[in-house]
Amino acid sequence: MTDQPRPAPAQAVLTVEDVEQVSPELIRITAGGDGYDDFRDNVFTDKYVKILFADPEHGLTPPFDLARLREESPEKLPTRRTYTIRSSDAARRRLVIDFVVHGDEGVAGPWARRAQPGDVLVLSGAGGGYAPDPAAPWHLLVGDHTAVPAISSAIEAMPPDAVGHVLVTVADPADRILPDLPDGVRLRWTDTDEELLSVLAGLHWADGHPAVFAHGERGTIKEVRALLKQREVPRESLSISAYWARGRAEDQFQAEKREPIGQIE
Ligand SMILES: Cc1cc2nc3c(=O)[nH]c(=O)nc-3n(C[C@H](O)[C@H](O)[C@H](O)COP(=O)(O)OP(=O)(O)OC[C@H]3O[C@@H](n4cnc5c(N)ncnc54)[C@H](O)[C@@H]3O)c2cc1C
Repeated sequence: MTDQPRPAPAQAVLTVEDVEQVSPELIRITAGGDGYDDFRDNVFTDKYVKILFADPEHGLTPPFDLARLREESPEKLPTRRTYTIRSSDAARRRLVIDFVVHGDEGVAGPWARRAQPGDVLVLSGAGGGYAPDPAAPWHLLVGDHTAVPAISSAIEAMPPDAVGHVLVTVADPADRILPDLPDGVRLRWTDTDEELLSVLAGLHWADGHPAVFAHGERGTIKEVRALLKQREVPRESLSISAYWARGRAEDQFQAEKREPIGQIE
């Protein structure tokens, strides 16, 4: 055992190359450049990064010395937000992130709305842990708009003979965008999470346990977990967690993962 501090994860300092308003609620940012070499890619379809947003008033230059800032001027620490890598292209050294814009609140959503080519995007990662299991009897993907990027990548990774269900809450039909599904995978868009839960509760349950990917608003994901318990889906068949919590900025949401309210067992 050693009590040496763990080295901080590398920060990839990227340049925004393209900003596309894909639909009313979705902004697609393409970023890349030499800093791409500091991005640690992986094979998971839910791969995600931690983006660091520094307040321009503090005049910090990335990569940020987080340990020093924490020690000397914690008020200047960049705000951290978690986002899925929708796609990455090592040959062209660029990656794509889809940002849901959810009103004027927050840091990341408003940043994406204002982003322009030439802006700096600082991130570390990627983490991740799920990809569709080709041996699963069937697939069940459940989520809301924040999980659409990961669900999209999962659909693209499925073999053509995959079977299962995709249930997604996205209120505005104009924002309902997913890749083409394998013939055996049925898609149901829902207007609200309440409707999604009721569709899930009434879903015809095929033989064998599904491989589940369920991510979205915390209260809803807890209810999804309860329904999956009733169906006796084993824990090892589940990728399930909250991506955000209503009324909580991500800092508080992440901190609450250490408390009972934040846990999804
Ligand atoms: C592993 C992982 C992957 C994720 N991938 C993506 C992704 O690819 N795209 C994406 O858009 N989001 C994704 N999210 C969710 C994203 O991190 C949160 O929505 C985050 O809170 C947004 O930060 P913010 O600064 O915009 O808002 P915050 O400052 O965190 O929150 C401000 C207020 O807005 C509310 N809020 C936050 N997010 C939403 C929302 N989506 N809809 C409505 N209200 C909201 C909060 O409850 C709070 O009241 C992911 C989260 C995780 C954990």
